Formats: sequence, C-alpha cells, structure tokens
Amino acid sequence: MVRVRIAPAPTGALHVGTARTALFNWLFARKHGGEFLLRIEDTDKERSRYEFVEQIIEGLKWLGLEWDEGPFFQSERLQLYRQEAYRLLEEGRAYLCFCTPEELEERRKQMLSQGLPPRYDRRCRCLDDAERKKLLNEGRKYVLRFAMPIDGETRFHDLVRGEITVRNDEMDDFVILKSDGTPTYNFACVVDDREMRITHVIRGEDHIPNTPRQIQLYIALGYELPQFAHLPLLLGRDRSKLSKRHGATSLLEYRNMGVLAEAMFNFLALLGWSPGGSEGEEIFSRDELIERFDITQVKPSGAIFNPEKLLWMNAHYIRQCDLDRLTKLCIPYLKGSNLISENPNETELKLAQRAIELVRDRMKLLSDVPSLCDYFFKDPIEYDPDGVRKWFAQDNIAMLLDELAQRLERLLSFDVATIESTLRGLAQEHGISAARLIHPTRLAITGRTIGPGLFELMEVVGKDACVRRLRRCASWVRASQKQA
Ligand code: GLU
Repeated sequence: MVRVRIAPAPTGALHVGTARTALFNWLFARKHGGEFLLRIEDTDKERSRYEFVEQIIEGLKWLGLEWDEGPFFQSERLQLYRQEAYRLLEEGRAYLCFCTPEELEERRKQMLSQGLPPRYDRRCRCLDDAERKKLLNEGRKYVLRFAMPIDGETRFHDLVRGEITVRNDEMDDFVILKSDGTPTYNFACVVDDREMRITHVIRGEDHIPNTPRQIQLYIALGYELPQFAHLPLLLGRDRSKLSKRHGATSLLEYRNMGVLAEAMFNFLALLGWSPGGSEGEEIFSRDELIERFDITQVKPSGAIFNPEKLLWMNAHYIRQCDLDRLTKLCIPYLKGSNLISENPNETELKLAQRAIELVRDRMKLLSDVPSLCDYFFKDPIEYDPDGVRKWFAQDNIAMLLDELAQRLERLLSFDVATIESTLRGLAQEHGISAARLIHPTRLAITGRTIGPGLFELMEVVGKDACVRRLRRCASWVRASQKQA
C-alpha cells in the first residue's frame, strides 16, 4: 500500500512550500488509496518550538489535508535512532569521531585555501583500537559518522527528474549521531521512513543532495529502498527562490488575510503540476485534482508562486461560496473593524449577510469586506472628492436629494422596484436622465462612486438611513456650494 508523509521541522511558520509538498503527498495518497502520515522533525531542541507544531497542525487542517497517522515526534523516538546508529557501529558501517569543532574548522579552512572542497578527511575512520580506547579513556566527546563507500556511485530513479547519479567519493562521512546522542536529519529520516513503512518520499528539490546519502544509509542498514520524487522549488515572479521579499510566505498569513482554503488548495496544486483539462482551465475541485494527480507529470523546473493568480482564484471561490458560510467567514473582519458588535444579534447578522451578498463579486480577499461594505453599517462621514466634483456641482442637486428623501419617506414598501420607480419618476419630472440622479444618490448614501446596484443596496441600507443620509448630504452640498 502507498504510504507517504510530510515531515516538517517546527522551527518557523508553516511555509507555503511545505504546504505544497504536503498537498502533493496527500493527493498522491488519496489517488492511490494510500496513507498520509504527519511526522514532526523536532530533534533540533534549540530551534524547535511547540507553537510551530500547532501552526503546522492548524495549517494542514485548514487546507483539509487530514493525515491518517501521527503526528509522530522524532524527539520521542531517540532510543530507536541510537539503537540503529550503534548497530551500524557494530557492523563497521559507522565509526566514532573525536575531532573537535575547532579542529574541523581549522582543517576546513586549510582545504578551502588549497582550493579543495571542504570535506571531513576521515581521520577517525583510520584510528586503531588502541588509539580509540585511549581517546575514550580521556573522556573525549565523540560523534558517530557514517562510513561512506569510497568507490562506486549511487544511482536512483527520481519520479520527477529521472536518473540521478552521484559518485560516492563526492559524499563525505557525515555525522549520524551527535555528541549529545541526538540523530542528524539524514539519519533520523531514513530510520523513520523505514519504520513507518514509507513507500514514496516526496519532498522539495532542496533535498536532492541528501537522497544519495540516505540511499547509502538504507543499504548499510539493510532496509528496502522507497521511491523518491523531488518537487520543484517555489519561485517568486522574478524566478528567484520564494522569500519574504516576494510577500507573505507563511500559509496561515494567507488564511488570516482571507484566502479561502479551497482557493489555496487549488492554487498550491497547480504549482509545478498541470492537471490538464481544456486550454487555460485552472479551477479544479479537490476530487478532480485527486482523480487527475500524477506524480510523474510534475514538472522538474521551478514553479512560480504568483500572488495575483491566488487573488484571482480566491475571488472565484468567494463568488461560488455558500452565502451562510461566506458570512460566517466574514464576521471576524466586520468585528475587527467595529462594524458589528462582538456578539452580533440576529439583525446585525442578517444585515451583514445581505451586505455581503451584494459586495461579494468585488471581493478578492475576505479582509476586503469591511472597506467594501462599511456604509451598510454606518452613515458615510465623507464623500469621494472626485464624485463630489462630478456629481454635486449642479445647482439643483441639493433640492433633488431633499425631494427624493421626501418621496422615499412616504413609501409604504421600501423594496428595489418601488425605490427604482420613485427615483426614475423624480428624474423624469425634472427632465433629467436617471443617471444624473442615480450617481449623486449613490454618493450621498455610500460616500462612494462605485458599488453594487443602487436600488438593491438602498433596500438593504433601509428607508430611515437612506432618508437621513440624503437629507444630511443635501445640507452638506448647500453649505459647500455657499462656501465656494
Ligand atoms: N524536515 C525536513 C524538511 O522539512 C524533511 C525533509 C523530508 O521530507 O525528508 O525539509
């Protein structure tokens, strides 16, 4: 059975690149009816933090990448790594190294100055028993190093990139167990992948240099090899490695800005892979993506993370979203801008829902909601200056706004059709086009020149507020005309 995993280190916010790797693993597992595991690689005590573990869990859950087993914590499995490392030692595939960090640094500098690649010189691999005993008796600290084969090469077939071959003499005798008894990444990873029966290791291409080292460990430990697939790195639009310079790189930052999980899912799935479909087709459901996923079709070259495309997709999913759900998702943003109370009542919620229904077509992010619909909740405090120049210059405009207020006030039913016929009727009586009244009315009621259909928004704003705003605006226009 296919078994894959995501194995993040909890040393920072969950990166979108890690989320993409998790998503490809998840798609692969779901496609093949396999299992997806979560393993937390927290052997670096200095840098690992529990809050990052929580972020990983929160981020994966948010994207809907539920795991079948785990989370497993490497920090709880140290005994297993030690046992396997010492097994290698006994079998002569690992050795004790007593070189101090200072000595290593000194030799590294020497090699660099001689134009040689800085590599461990295998000094301790040649120690004889007596020398080793002596150093142990002196109480010298040691690490365990892997005895890399000196001849030959390591070859593997990467499911994304094809054949990869590395000469063994290009790889040094890397440390497998540090002096404090904790394993290094390469070692713990191999022991875990075998113990967790991982069949396919799917991870970022930054791990390609680790893979031949890990393969040599598999061979030395007598483990069966999994298959490997390395995904292209995420790049910014300038084709350099995606970094904070390009904008947010943390998954949860996007959630907090108001990207919908399904938009992020769709967007991440297309980073380095194309599900096919008709020309230019980019919107795919979760099920379609599972159905079409093919790891061998992942492109080996860099995948561009384009935030504008993400916003475009998000706008699409916002338009498609069930209105009740969309409202729930928008509520925190409305609260955050004090447009609704901390514990909104039914009326507030209803108003929010109707407002969101009208503005959703203009939203790219959920966080756009307060600025797009604040006027549903409070009277405008200022009017768009360009709109004022364009629509409030006519002499009779204050009179028209007052007149409209008066007619609206008398209406028994304040619905879209009645509002519309009232306004059009007034325009006609004064021999002006409806547009010459519609624009100033919108400005008076919303403070802006653009927005959803005027009659629809007026119905939601309600009669009292519309009348009050029209009158207040008429006075404001009179006062400013007088001043001019
Ligand atoms: N902890 C490693 C990382 O986050 C795991 C790499 C792997 O999947 O082997 O990059």
